[in-house]
Parts: sequence; structure tokens; C-alpha cells
Amino acid sequence: MNLADLRFAAEPYYRPVGHEVALFEHAHAHRLPVMLKGPTGCGKTRFVEHMAWRLGKPLITVACNEDVTAADLVGRFLLDADGTRWHDGPLTVAVRQGAMIYLDEVVEARPDTTVVLHPLTDARRILPLDRKGETVTAHPDFHLVVSYNPGYQAAGKGLKPSTRQRFAALEFDYPDEAAETEIVAHEAGIDRTLAATLVRIAGRSRALRARGLDEGISTRMLIYAGVLIRDGMPAAESCRMAMTDPITDDADLRQALRDIVDACL
Ligand code: ADP
Repeated sequence: MNLADLRFAAEPYYRPVGHEVALFEHAHAHRLPVMLKGPTGCGKTRFVEHMAWRLGKPLITVACNEDVTAADLVGRFLLDADGTRWHDGPLTVAVRQGAMIYLDEVVEARPDTTVVLHPLTDARRILPLDRKGETVTAHPDFHLVVSYNPGYQAAGKGLKPSTRQRFAALEFDYPDEAAETEIVAHEAGIDRTLAATLVRIAGRSRALRARGLDEGISTRMLIYAGVLIRDGMPAAESCRMAMTDPITDDADLRQALRDIVDACL
């Protein structure tokens, strides 16, 4: 893995919604591990990309899922022509070479991953590679960032208090109306009037969370709908395809969402 390839040449567009840029810069300066909390599709990944660019740091991103184990992050011995050879995993590469690493949806990964993160998130800043019999001291530029969707706690997937305590947290939510309109217009390449309409639909859909909708329509979904409309697809069908229909299988909720779309368009 060549870290030079993991630097952003161009600025990833990010519209700040509060003081998160300055807060992150200070957390980074002190190498405080950062946890980005918030629902899916609200800008966490884009924010980290923007910050890596702003700070001039290479970024390694790992999308965690239930199959991701500590060995996937740390590394393992693999067979090659000369026998077995150790291969550093993405976490070890970041620790050795001084990159920022973003573990997206960290609670999805197997519980053994938190064991390897703990000694990296306190004053020791070390990564024990048990199988290799080596302990790597983190490069001064190593910075750990994770994301975490608190909505998943309901499904029994929370972060243990002993893990949470090790992070500084930035809370994300869908941007306010004006900011989200700007983002959707920019990202989908549509005019502000249309973007504002999509944002209004999303705002109303998010109110349905109280009626059993797990997550409201995300900023990402609004951008998808905007892209379809920009391509010339009919607005109502684009909204159904990108916004209302993927989000729930419940017939009543879907109808309620479709009614919101029809009322706003
Ligand atoms: P998350 O990581 O929270 O699931 P993303 O960062 O992938 O979400 O956001 C989804 C999309 O929404 C991004 O690709 C980007 O186009 C857009 N987006 C959301 N918030 C912002 C923001 N504040 N500035 C710029 N783009 C944003």
C-alpha cells in the first residue's frame, strides 16, 4: 500500500454545519481518537475525506461489516512461493507509516477488533501483533477515526463503555434545511428550487421516525433523486426510486412517504 496514493489531490467538497472542522483539527493535533456519530448518509465519510485533505494526511478507509475480524485489520501470515510471509493489514500500515484510518461502522466488526484498538487509543499508542510476536509503536502521525450509527444500538449493537471512553465524539445529523439544500444542489448538479423541494420531502419523512421508520430519507438519497431528475426522469418516479421505496418494506409507511412526495412536488 503506497500512502502517497491515499492523499487527496483535490478538495473533497464539504459544507460545514457547525464547528466540526475546527474541533476535528484540534482533536487531530492532539491525536485524540475521534468517533463520528450519526445516521447513515449524513456526511460523516465525506467529512473525514475533507479533513484528511485539509490536513494533508493520507486516509485509509475500512468499511466494517460482521465478517471483519481483528486479523483483517492487523494482518496475517499468508502462503507464498517462499513459504509463509506476514502481510500488514490496513490498521498496521496506518500505525507504522502514520496515516489517518477511518473505520466506518466500527460496531459492525467482530468484537475482537476492539481488543486491538484499545492499546492504540490510550497513552501507549501501541499495536501488539500477537501472532507475529511484534509490538508496533504508532507513528506520530497515526490518527484513528471511527464512525458509529447510534440507531443500531436498538439492534443490540452498541459500543462498550470501556471503548467509548477512549474517543472524542462529534455528533452528526442531517444538515439544516439551508445547508442541505446547498449540498444537494451542489452534489446532484440541480437548481436550488428543486433541491429545496427534495429537502422539504426529507424533512417531513424524518418526522415519520416517530411512527416506526428506522431512519429518515438521508442526504445521500436526496442526491440520488436529484441526479435522476437532472437526467430527465419524471420527478415523482425519481423520488420513489431513490427516496421512498428503498427505505421501508412496510406498506403503510411507504404510502405515507409517497403521499409526502406527491404533496411537495
Ligand atoms: P455517511 O458516511 O454519514 O453515511 P456520506 O459522507 O457518505 O454519509 O454522505 C453521503 C453523501 O451526502 C456524500 O457523498 C455527499 O455527497 C453528501 N453530503 C452529506 N453531508 C454533506 C456535507 N456536509 N457536505 C458535503 N456533502 C455532504
